[in-house]
Amino acid sequence: MIETEVIIIGGGPAGSSCAWKLVEKGIDCIILDKSIFPRPKLCAGWITSKVVKLLKIEDYPGLDKLNHFIVNVWKLKMKFKTDQFSIRRFKFDEFLLKRSKAKLVQHSVLEIKKENGFFLVDNKFKCKYLVGAGGTNCPVYAAFFKESNPRDQNYSVVALEQELKYEERDDKCHIWFFQNKLPGYSWYVPKQNGFVNLGIGGKSRVLKKKGASITDCWDGFISNLKEKGLIKNLELNPQGYVYYLRNEVKTCQIDNCFIVGDAVGLATQDLGEGIGPAIESGLLVADSIINHVPYSIDSISELSINNWFFIFLRYFSRLFR
Ligand SMILES: Cc1cc2nc3c(=O)[nH]c(=O)nc-3n(C[C@H](O)[C@H](O)[C@H](O)COP(=O)(O)OP(=O)(O)OC[C@H]3O[C@@H](n4cnc5c(N)ncnc54)[C@H](O)[C@@H]3O)c2cc1C
Repeated sequence: MIETEVIIIGGGPAGSSCAWKLVEKGIDCIILDKSIFPRPKLCAGWITSKVVKLLKIEDYPGLDKLNHFIVNVWKLKMKFKTDQFSIRRFKFDEFLLKRSKAKLVQHSVLEIKKENGFFLVDNKFKCKYLVGAGGTNCPVYAAFFKESNPRDQNYSVVALEQELKYEERDDKCHIWFFQNKLPGYSWYVPKQNGFVNLGIGGKSRVLKKKGASITDCWDGFISNLKEKGLIKNLELNPQGYVYYLRNEVKTCQIDNCFIVGDAVGLATQDLGEGIGPAIESGLLVADSIINHVPYSIDSISELSINNWFFIFLRYFSRLFR
């Protein structure tokens, strides 16, 4: 049996941020992740300047500054200034994990029990504090929070995406809202070294109600990209993932057990941004363990953008209901 003060299940941004702060304070912690890093992670890879500041990664070489967004809504096309960045999750998550200096064990967690005030993970690992950072399918959520904090399917988002090397890519970031019946948006995010991320995401329930499928929306999206000359004939094989936008969170701490990031369902209601809230929640749990204070997600914003245009979209579209 391996014993430690804290076990964090999941080495994404939520888990690695939590570990970073704990290790800095000399607290013994282990991260368990089923994947070998670097691992692929479906994500457009936008991060805000707030994330860069919180993580103190101004010098991270994989940051690519996005100066503008080209936003398309129905037939309207607008250019917005932005201070956001793009990163490649494949590299970014590995960088944050290494930087945390926490011990990383490759292990796919199946069973978690609580005995005499300690958590036993697959009868191999034992700890006093347990942090669930395993994303949508987090085993800590399934074991302890599923009943007290059920997920509301009205907030479920289905996404399809592909990241690929494409030297001829446009260097501007494009977003299309409500194209091809999509109750959400599609994106074209340029990244460093000739990579581009193509993706679409929308509310699962609304898609179903409209009788549309995410793969049909993808096909329409790719045709539009070709028409606009943003891609040529490429062999594409997009992958899908489901995660949850922020809604009422009844509980995210039970005694010494916590859930963070996508395990809670913290992505912002307007743009589905989940990296920032994952990091903030990871840091808040670390603070709770270090200083013996209750963990609360109240300080984490439910929205990404307070720009008038996005507020307009929020109120006048089905996506945000
Ligand atoms: C297509 C798509 C595009 C997105 N684009 C953006 C974007 O541009 N900007 C943004 O801010 N957010 C975006 N998001 C959301 C963002 O990716 C997530 O909110 C964020 O990754 C959540 O981080 P996390 O650490 O909670 O979980 P994750 O990053 O999912 O990490 C969870 C980790 O847990 C591990 N794990 C899971 N189960 C087990 C188990 N049983 N045992 C051991 N390990 C386990 C996994 O291997 C994984 O490494 C996007 C999401 C999708 C699907």
